[in-house]
Amino acid sequence: MSDTLASQVAAGEVVDRPASVIKELVENSLDAGAKTVRVEIRRGGISLMKVTDDGCGMSREDASLALLRHATSKLACTEDLFHITQLGFRGEALPSIASISRLRLATRRHEEVEGTEILCEGGDQTPPRDAGTAPGTTIEISDLFYNTPARRKFLKSEETEAGHIEHQFKLHALAFPGVRFMFTRDGQTVYDAVATTDMRQRIADFAGRTQADRLIAILPAEGPGISITGYLLPLSEARRNRRLQYIFLNRRPIDDKLVTRAIRDGFGGFPTGLHPALYLYIEMDPALVDVNVHPAKREVRFRRPGDLVAAIIEAVGNTLSAHARAETAPSPLPNQPALPQPPASTSQHPATAQPTKEPPPPASPRPTIPLPSKTTASSIRPILPATPAAPVLPPSQRELNIPVRHPAPAPPPAATPQLPKHTPHFRLLGILKEQYALFENAEGLVLLSPRAARERILFEQFIAAHKKPVASQLLLSPVLLDMDTRDLAAVTQLLPHFEQAGFRLSSFGHKTLRIEAIPAPLQLDRIEDFVADLIHSLTRGDTRIQRHRNPYEPFAIQMARQYARREDISPLLADPSRLLSNLLACEIPYCTPSGKPTLIPYAMSEITRKFQAN
Ligand code: ADP
Ligand code: MG
Repeated sequence: MSDTLASQVAAGEVVDRPASVIKELVENSLDAGAKTVRVEIRRGGISLMKVTDDGCGMSREDASLALLRHATSKLACTEDLFHITQLGFRGEALPSIASISRLRLATRRHEEVEGTEILCEGGDQTPPRDAGTAPGTTIEISDLFYNTPARRKFLKSEETEAGHIEHQFKLHALAFPGVRFMFTRDGQTVYDAVATTDMRQRIADFAGRTQADRLIAILPAEGPGISITGYLLPLSEARRNRRLQYIFLNRRPIDDKLVTRAIRDGFGGFPTGLHPALYLYIEMDPALVDVNVHPAKREVRFRRPGDLVAAIIEAVGNTLSAHARAETAPSPLPNQPALPQPPASTSQHPATAQPTKEPPPPASPRPTIPLPSKTTASSIRPILPATPAAPVLPPSQRELNIPVRHPAPAPPPAATPQLPKHTPHFRLLGILKEQYALFENAEGLVLLSPRAARERILFEQFIAAHKKPVASQLLLSPVLLDMDTRDLAAVTQLLPHFEQAGFRLSSFGHKTLRIEAIPAPLQLDRIEDFVADLIHSLTRGDTRIQRHRNPYEPFAIQMARQYARREDISPLLADPSRLLSNLLACEIPYCTPSGKPTLIPYAMSEITRKFQAN
């Protein structure tokens, strides 16, 4: 196997997308002791990625060696493998990247007057030549995967790749607050985070403004060879995904089940599907951890996992109880929302610790359909139905601009499905355990699930939007949602669907989504949670939605499901007959769009058979 081929194979492990190139290059800069790291990308990194640092630089000889396989200056013997303090050590990254791109390396050691430049194409180096360059190293990668077209095809949109790069950049910057980090995308400076000794400052540079204010400093905890610091957010900030969990081990971002479980335990148990938000920095004696498990180095193996788990539980648990005490001690300001109380001990799994996801029950039962355009939040007023969907904005345009529509003087009645005159042959018998409605019909007994029924009804309302967009209700004060840049990229692509479904979204600052209007049929208390969950459910499994024949359909399915999941069913059960007639007016009333039953019949013959058994 030739060296270039071997490198291309290795590249398959190390470089799966532009963001992994950025990871390797920035790690090298940090290993070189850089105080400033500048990352520039063009077109999602596919046409250009450039990382410039002011680190130690390389001699001419080292520069040519750096592009050869297993040339690392960081490991002298196997013994060193157990004391890894630097981010890179495999000597694999540069040759791998060089084998699948066009690379330019310019470097100069501080003590030297002349720098060195090497060009490399698909792994073939030009001889080093003199170059006037600042002390430090610049590596420029253009046309990633130009010689491996099969790999290139797997790349997602530029927007998506840029989102991943930005996330990767953010991880490095969060791990090294003492280094200045700059990020430029398509000629625009997106971040310039100055060096700081204050971790909170660095987090604030990247977290949205709402989040930064809520950070709670973790009370430091120690274990043998271990120390834990960081910041966490109250339970109410927990998310359905782990996008707000930043975990670093010796400044290396990691993704480790043991650690995430310890965090959950520290929080005193968590409702399944929710993940606490936090920035956790673990410092550990390098001898206690093996980072050489995976080429991308996100997985690690701990030699004494018990000590680590104990330290994390202690750090998180103590912080939360101290915070709870501080919150409850003096009477809180009347207009401050009370934080959910974390449980006192880690052995409990109380349901009371769960953040309130369901809207609180309304004072009086609400009618089922049509839903009034007046919602529980009084800050909402109805506007005209949305105009047909706006086109997807070009990826280069970072703002999610949506033309403003003007509220109509008199709103049309909310999209009301035509009620059938009567519900033939169904007689309400009662409610079972406040969860299901029981009906009798000619065949026997029928159970109705209100949640499943609502999912079907809403879905059909949303799907009807392909003929006529769903009506919107304008929020008097827009709701802001801090977003992960990867999710923001997904939202840009989904924008026409959001529009069609009655949402009006725009960007507010760099990574905050501003929700200006929501679909009229929805009554939402925590709009930001709903939208965050919706986006998460749509982006899970990558771009599944784009492959669908009618991409709006999965959108409508998720919207109906997410809404029905959190809806208070008691008002629905106040008038089950009405709910049933709305359901029966649907095109496919007997199941939810995802195929779960809405009605379960028990035929008389079946019941009789049961009674006659044995
Ligand atoms: P590794 O980081 O695993 O050692 P790489 O292939 O990433 O392997 O880099 C190879 C070598 O090139 C490094 O060991 C280092 O000596 C040198 N190098 C790479 N990037 C830089 C940089 N930005 N500044 C100084 N030296 C660098
Ligand atoms: Mg490296």
